[in-house]
Amino acid sequence: MTSNQDIIQRDLQSVWHPCTQMKDHEKLPLIPFKSGKGVWLHDFDGNKYIDAVSSWWVNLFGHCNPRINDAIRHQIDTLEHAMLAGFTHEPVVSLSERLIKATPPGLDKCFYADNGSSAIEVALKMSYHYWKNVGAPGKKNFVNISNSYHGETLGALALGDVALYRDTYAPLLMDVLTVPGPDAFNREEGETWKDYAIRQFAHMEAMLEKHHDEVCAVVIEPLVQCAGNMRMYDPIYLTMLREACDRYNVHLIADEIAVGFGRTGTMFACEQADITPDFMTLSKGLTAGYLPLSVTLTSNHIYNAFYDDYETLKAFLHSHSYTGNAIGCAVAEATLDIFEQDNVIVENRRLAQVMGDSVAHLADHPNVGDIRQHGMILAIELVKNRKTRELFPWQERRGIRVYQHALSQQALLRPLANVVYFMPPYVITEDEIKHLAQVATDGIHKAVQD
Ligand SMILES: *Cc1c(COP(=O)(O)O)cnc(C)c1O
Repeated sequence: MTSNQDIIQRDLQSVWHPCTQMKDHEKLPLIPFKSGKGVWLHDFDGNKYIDAVSSWWVNLFGHCNPRINDAIRHQIDTLEHAMLAGFTHEPVVSLSERLIKATPPGLDKCFYADNGSSAIEVALKMSYHYWKNVGAPGKKNFVNISNSYHGETLGALALGDVALYRDTYAPLLMDVLTVPGPDAFNREEGETWKDYAIRQFAHMEAMLEKHHDEVCAVVIEPLVQCAGNMRMYDPIYLTMLREACDRYNVHLIADEIAVGFGRTGTMFACEQADITPDFMTLSKGLTAGYLPLSVTLTSNHIYNAFYDDYETLKAFLHSHSYTGNAIGCAVAEATLDIFEQDNVIVENRRLAQVMGDSVAHLADHPNVGDIRQHGMILAIELVKNRKTRELFPWQERRGIRVYQHALSQQALLRPLANVVYFMPPYVITEDEIKHLAQVATDGIHKAVQD
């Protein structure tokens, strides 16, 4: 019988893991998963864990979901993959039709890639290329907000503002214009999220007023900055941003790679601000956590600026080997089927309420600086001092103590720095949420002791 230890030993000989200091595994053992079912992941030694973070925010309907498995089986016996330049297939056509229907009105065309970072690269290149095609080549800069994250490839990384991922590579990255964002954690005592977002918008307004002639687009994560420690803000900021981008003739790129597909309580976060961006990037939940697929949606207006005789060289000559992979598209369709058949968004309102209630008792814990929630994302920020909101020094890695406690209690709760968060698959039950809340509470008590 294979044990955890067998796999771990072989793994460390040959695998280099993502986002990991490999030396940590001298003290924090890897956990090899043997199988998954619903919200549960099982290791080789008979332990199981609730996947409270949806395996890095991708899983929507549980592991080994029978309906999605069926969709894969069906597609794999029909057509697995074929090149999409000059050719097409039914899954990519019908998925595109359905995404155009599901997203805010005015997004009319779908361009596919195979991961979120690549979808961002597509949006950046398309935006720049649009302005070039319409005779404004001076527009070649991008604006982002503080604490944003858009992926790891060099273009996407340049648009990020999380020092941990960005600073090492700074000399390799293009310059961007960064404005202080609307992150509600930074609001004054007594100020509402909305008032703070409106106040902070002055920075964006000033930046666009000064630089709009050289700016292609503003790139933003709607409502939740997930990799930026689950910081959140009020939708009014997006409404104001849409209006300002129109006024200054600048594109708006909404990165819904993490927040799309129901995470914030609506199918897409942009709906809460009642806006349509010029580009919307989707990945992660697009395939419910099954396969790498991403899409950049844009308008017919932008598409038409590329549509011309070949010799004008206006075409968008970007591709990836697996663009529009048929099995990926079939899985994305199965994902949309589940949203339609199960009334997921409405059901999630109840689960979101249970999540909020389950940790309400932590609100006045001396080391909890903030509990925040947008729909199915809930975050608890640990601080050294609740009054001053002084943070724990990052070197102390308090979050890891919560992680270790959780593992011993059947939960995979992997904090971001000192932020403990729940972002579970939508098939989680009330009892499982209550269990997570108990584990988080005990883990936090342990983590803040010296
Ligand atoms: C995860 C993420 C990305 C990058 O997607 P990958 O598939 O990891 O390349 C981009 N933007 C946001 C908001 C993300 O959460």
